Amino acid sequence: MSTQPLRRLSAAEATELALSAPGSACNQCRAFSSPGWSSFPATASAEVLQAVGALWLPGDDEPTQEETPRPTGVDEWSAAAPISLSRRPYNRCEIWSCRHCRLPFLRYTEYGGYYVDSRIRELHAERLVDGI
Ligand SMILES: [Zn+2]
Repeated sequence: MSTQPLRRLSAAEATELALSAPGSACNQCRAFSSPGWSSFPATASAEVLQAVGALWLPGDDEPTQEETPRPTGVDEWSAAAPISLSRRPYNRCEIWSCRHCRLPFLRYTEYGGYYVDSRIRELHAERLVDGI
């Protein structure tokens, strides 16, 4: 058998995870610590992270391509970039958390013309903009 399919997470569940998260990364998950998107570190062991679920599963309808609006001067890599769980790229994210401190992380794979980039970003409640 192949790997377990990820559990579906609603935006409300993801928000709940963010609200109950510790404020910062612990020693175990510090290698992945990034308040804005960064490329998944190639040198760190991903063993410290466990899959919680996914906001989109294969077979679902294609989610909207609409991007999360950002304030002027804030790019998508910025730690200040808002997180809208219903818009790109967050509506295609998986959520993982640290096995030790439970800090949640968003993971997303960008398929470019000549590259595949696996990205990770801490999920912080104060960046969430859905429903506000
Ligand atoms: Zn941790």
